Amino acid sequence: MKKKVFITGASSGIGEGIAKHLAKDHKVIISDFSESRVKQTQEKMSKQGFQVEAQVFDVTNEAHLQALSEQSIDILINNAGIQYVSKIEDFPAEKWQQLIDVMLVGPAMTTRAVLRSMKQNNFGRIINIGSVHSLVASAYKSAYVSAKHGLIGLAKTVALEVAASDITINTVCPGYVDTDMVRNQIKQQAEVHQISEAEVIDKIMLKNMPKKQFIEILELAGTVEFLIGPYAKNITAQAFVLDGGWTAH
Ligand code: NAD
Repeated sequence: MKKKVFITGASSGIGEGIAKHLAKDHKVIISDFSESRVKQTQEKMSKQGFQVEAQVFDVTNEAHLQALSEQSIDILINNAGIQYVSKIEDFPAEKWQQLIDVMLVGPAMTTRAVLRSMKQNNFGRIINIGSVHSLVASAYKSAYVSAKHGLIGLAKTVALEVAASDITINTVCPGYVDTDMVRNQIKQQAEVHQISEAEVIDKIMLKNMPKKQFIEILELAGTVEFLIGPYAKNITAQAFVLDGGWTAH
């Protein structure tokens, strides 16, 4: 049966890819804080044959959260994310706060917003897009790592609170994913370090990933499809790690 899926930060990258994958079977709402970007993505998807709704939604905006709580959502995908890289001593306090607001407080508040209708319908699936940085750290990413670690604690807590209903909450944790953003970083790093793009991939990006491959967006979409499907109804509070062996170190 078609479910109503709400995806945050879905006008690009992983969120956009998951939206396309789920649009074949479900009624998907892509959302993002930028109205122009979310509309453009909706039009692009429509031309590619994927029909989705578009909604302006900033995960930190109280009015948007209130509007979400008035909708009936079956599947919530907390995907919106941002990055900032700096050693802790130089990390601007407002940037630290912003990363936590978008990637930890945001998912907690969207979860709070959708739970009333999920409980009424006795059905709900919540997926957080975490990261390998939900489990391990990299230097200079203190806010990102803290927010992504926090998602696992959030999922464990909510899973216990909603266990009496057919509602699950899990966190998908990828290593580096093959997105436009990551591809652009490769070009930039090659210029900064004066090395080839192949060396950036091998020596920097995939240094910690023994399988030496980026995670494909489709692998994440397939994992989400499994977690929202019937065989995963007793899988809750878990971290699903797609890291090419990173955390085996
Ligand atoms: P992306 O930049 O393409 O997507 C992030 C989206 O979040 C953007 O569309 C942006 O507009 C949106 N966003 C930012 N702030 C927002 C806010 N306040 N409200 C609503 N939307 C907001 O990057 P991506 O790689 O597709 O990242 C998606 C998720 O995957 C993020 O949570 C990221 O941390 C996670 N992730 C990415 C990688 C990777 O290698 N790309 C690896 C691990 C985890």
